[in-house]
Amino acid sequence: MITATAEINLTALQHNFAQVKQIAPQSKVLAVLKANAYGHGLVPIAEQLKDADSFGVARIDEALALRAGGIVKPIVLLEGFLHAQDLPILVANNIQTVVHIPHQIELILSTKLESPLNVWLKVDTGMHRLGVAPAFFEEAYHWLNQSKNVHQPMRLMTHFACADESDNDKTQQQIALFEQLTSNHVGEKTMANSAAVIAWPNARADWVRPGLMLYGVSPISELTAAELHLSPVMTLKSSLIAIRPIKKGESVGYGAAWVAQQDTNIGVIAIGYGDGYPRNAPSGTPVLINGRIVLLVGRVSMDMITIDLGSNPTEQLGDEVVLWGDGLPVEEIARLAETIPYELLCNITQRVKCLYL
Ligand SMILES: *Cc1c(COP(=O)(O)O)cnc(C)c1O
Repeated sequence: MITATAEINLTALQHNFAQVKQIAPQSKVLAVLKANAYGHGLVPIAEQLKDADSFGVARIDEALALRAGGIVKPIVLLEGFLHAQDLPILVANNIQTVVHIPHQIELILSTKLESPLNVWLKVDTGMHRLGVAPAFFEEAYHWLNQSKNVHQPMRLMTHFACADESDNDKTQQQIALFEQLTSNHVGEKTMANSAAVIAWPNARADWVRPGLMLYGVSPISELTAAELHLSPVMTLKSSLIAIRPIKKGESVGYGAAWVAQQDTNIGVIAIGYGDGYPRNAPSGTPVLINGRIVLLVGRVSMDMITIDLGSNPTEQLGDEVVLWGDGLPVEEIARLAETIPYELLCNITQRVKCLYL
C-alpha cells in the first residue's frame, strides 16, 4: 500500500518542453527549476531537460546543488548574487547572474575576478520588484560594459507583472518600454515567463523563461492545461487506509467541523498538510479513486484527510487515490484552496516519495 507519493511523469515533461519549442521556435529556452523544480526534484528534472539552453534558479545553493548533481549546462541566478564573496563562486562554477540593483554593480566593479562573469542586466519596466530603474538603465549598462569583470555582450531582461491577464494593457506597456530601452544594445533579450510565452507573442524575444508550463500546469486561469496541450508532470497519490460507517448527525475530524446529513461511509486517506496537501482545502474538494470523483469532508489533518464514500462504497482498503495530477488538475484544487498551483506544487514536503516514471 503506498503512502504520499508524487509520480513524476518524465514523458509529460518532454512533451511540455516540446510544446514550448513549438510555440516559441526562434527562442532559446531558460528552463526555470527554482524551488526544487516546483516540487518535482531539482536534479532529476534538470537531467531530463537535455534540450534546454540553460537553467534558472533563485538562489546560489540551488545552482550549486545542480553542479553537485553533475549538471553542466549554464545556470542563471534569477534573484542575483547577494555578497562580494559569492562572485568567485559564480565564476568557478560557471554560474551566470542577474544584476538588478546598483549595489551589485558596485560589488562587481570593485572585485578582482579570475575570469569575466556572465551577467543578465534586469530593468524594471513596471513589476517594481527587482530591476534597475529605466532612468538608470543606460548608466548601469555603461558601468558593466566597461568592466573587465563582465563578459560582453551582456544579456538584457525584464519581468512582467500581469502576463497571465490577456486583456491587461500593462504587459504591452512593459514590452514597449523594454524595447525602447534596449533597442540600441546588441545583447540577447528576454522577457517571457510561461504566461507570456503563451499569451504575448511579441514578448518571446531571444530567450523564453518557462517554469510552470514545463510542469504541465496552465499559467492562465481562463485556459486549462488540456486546452494548451500541456500534460501534468506530477500526480500526487496516496491510499485509502480506513473505511468506516458513520450515522446521520455524527461529525468527522477535528473541530467536529463536518456533520453527516445521512448515514454514509467515511474513507481515510494517508495524506495531509504534513505532505503539502493544503490545510484549507474545504469540504467538497474532489479526489479521484478508481476513476470516481469523491469529495473531501471535514478538516485536513497533518497526516490524513477524510472523504465521503456514500452509502454503498465499492472502494477497498489500499485503493490508490489521486489528489491532483492525471485526471484531476492541480489548478482545480488550488482554486478551491484559494491559492495558486505554484504554491501547491512547491509545498510538497520531504516526506512525499518522488517516483520518476
Ligand atoms: C519564476 C520565474 C520565471 C518562471 O515563471 P513561470 O510563471 O513559472 O513560467 C521566469 N522568470 C523569472 C525571473 C522568474 O522568477
